[in-house]
Amino acid sequence: MTDEGALVLFSGGQDSTTCLTWALARYPRVETLGFEYGQRHRIEMDCRARLRTGIAALDPAWAARLGDDHVVVLDALGAISETALTRDTAIAMAADGLPNTFVPGRNIVFLTFAAALAYRRDLRRIVGGMCETDFSGYPDCRDDAIKALQVALNLGMDRRFVLETPLMWIDKAATWALAKATGGQGLVELIVEDTHTCYLGQRGDRHDWGYGCGTCPACELRAKGYATFVADGG
Ligand code: ZN
Repeated sequence: MTDEGALVLFSGGQDSTTCLTWALARYPRVETLGFEYGQRHRIEMDCRARLRTGIAALDPAWAARLGDDHVVVLDALGAISETALTRDTAIAMAADGLPNTFVPGRNIVFLTFAAALAYRRDLRRIVGGMCETDFSGYPDCRDDAIKALQVALNLGMDRRFVLETPLMWIDKAATWALAKATGGQGLVELIVEDTHTCYLGQRGDRHDWGYGCGTCPACELRAKGYATFVADGG
């Protein structure tokens, strides 16, 4: 194992929870970072502490590696964004083919702040759940966007950060399978029970894949991935 530390973008959703355990299995010092940016639903943020406790309880080695949690308030991002995640607007497709849940610049801003924090905390690896496979068309989730940003951050901060995106080329079913391979059935159950993905911010009914409205794009993707994971023997 490398002695390098990692900073994980940790929202409290399925993807970032899987990324956090992925990092805990690899790096001796792992810290977490969450953002408050005026999102309509703070349920994901409220899940974070419970998930960190649950993850630490799964494995004593993970508990020893899991370091500080950081929360950065970025109200300015919400103030300048007209999206269904930051305004009381129905989720819809915009004329350019992007859903209006897209917050322009969000991942660029998040990763830039993450790098600034990683700089201060002397953490070389920055881990995020961006995914080009099942993604909703968000351009800043694409591999090329992340790689370009890595170059810009390293040039601009004179560091050698590595932006790691373990979910980039896998779909939601494979994300469930990755969680199982990393932390066993205990981790799968923790993700089902305590992570939150629903765009509408609903805990609502408990489905086999977790809580949520069951009909928004995020719930549909999560449910479909879970069904495939189970059908494949997960
Ligand atoms: Zn939903």
